Amino acid sequence: MTIQMNSMQLDSQVKLALVEHAEQNLPEECCGILAGEWSGKTLSKVTRAIPIDNFASQKKSTQFEIKSSSILQINRALRKEGLDLLGFYHSHPNGRPEPSKKDLAASTAWPGYYHIILATSEYGETSFNAFMTNKPTWNQIPLNGALL
Ligand SMILES: [Zn+2]
Repeated sequence: MTIQMNSMQLDSQVKLALVEHAEQNLPEECCGILAGEWSGKTLSKVTRAIPIDNFASQKKSTQFEIKSSSILQINRALRKEGLDLLGFYHSHPNGRPEPSKKDLAASTAWPGYYHIILATSEYGETSFNAFMTNKPTWNQIPLNGALL
């Protein structure tokens, strides 16, 4: 038996929504919630991205904050639809698709949850990576299906 890595499948519509959200929010970071079907140990399917206002009180170009009341409210609505909260996403304007020191310490770095980081460049290119959050490091995981 081979050990299966945790991985993520991303609907192409979700991919598009993430990229659009990141580009619309420039020069500030965008953020939101990833939802879909939780598989347990191997592969999860992200079928929905829910944009949330960046609640950071300052320097929104280099940081983001998601209000915990927003997370609770969205989680409740998702459960009614039979969907799971799988994780979070945010963007790095003119940055890299890697977690910053602040990201690693962020309150949304819930152990065992997904996190997508999008990096938008001034040349209109957007790249992203998926991670499984885990303190003190985040493990990059493969994205199946729709890759940029
Ligand atoms: Zn970040």
